[in-house]
Amino acid sequence: LPTVITVDGPGGSGKGTVTQMLAKKLGFHLLDSGALYRLTALAAVRQGVSLEDEATLIGVAASLDVAFEPTPPGEPAKVILAGEDVTSEIRTETCGDNASRVAVMQPVRDALLQRQRDFRKAPGLVADGRDMGTVVFPDAPVKIFLTASAEERARRRFSQLKDAGVDVNIDALLEEIRVRDERDMNRSAAPLKPADDAQVIDSTGLSIEEVLDRCMAAAGQ
Ligand code: C5P
Repeated sequence: LPTVITVDGPGGSGKGTVTQMLAKKLGFHLLDSGALYRLTALAAVRQGVSLEDEATLIGVAASLDVAFEPTPPGEPAKVILAGEDVTSEIRTETCGDNASRVAVMQPVRDALLQRQRDFRKAPGLVADGRDMGTVVFPDAPVKIFLTASAEERARRRFSQLKDAGVDVNIDALLEEIRVRDERDMNRSAAPLKPADDAQVIDSTGLSIEEVLDRCMAAAGQ
């Protein structure tokens, strides 16, 4: 089987950027598993399905009509839902929050499992998520758990949003990050935690290049 490098951790830990850079450097495929949870939430909202209606959400997840369109390596893939480009729509805070609500449901997670494993292709895969090392690719030879303090993650998210022209309050953002972390860590279905054999990297105070160097070292490169 092609090799897998798993990168798990809370939102804003730099995972998204670092996994894109890692995949580019190694020439590997990239799985943004969070996008699948975001897409499930978005598809549900669009179909008027309640985010509490587990039975219907399972079907939404199982039948997601999604395509990740390749862009130049190192850039986020274009995300197409039922023929429509939703790349920016799935990035909103609301969609992230909704994603974490559907992600607490084990049957929804089960419905997305095989789709994630199918990303494992030659020459290799960098898998970004919350449970890549614990559930989806437990046999991955390289597992990284990337963290950063909640304050640092709020600051990073704040400047990302500011650059995108979105006006937000940093305290509100910090609160949202804390709520989402709590939900992700305390759920019974695949709670966010490092795999036993993961190497933990704290990115607080590090530049993205420094984080990338540490990840490359962890990957034995
Ligand atoms: O990483 P991202 O912010 O896109 O993830 C959105 C939400 O999807 C997370 O807060 C988490 O609840 C859920 N998720 C998950 N398992 C993954 C990836 C994301 O539960 N592997």
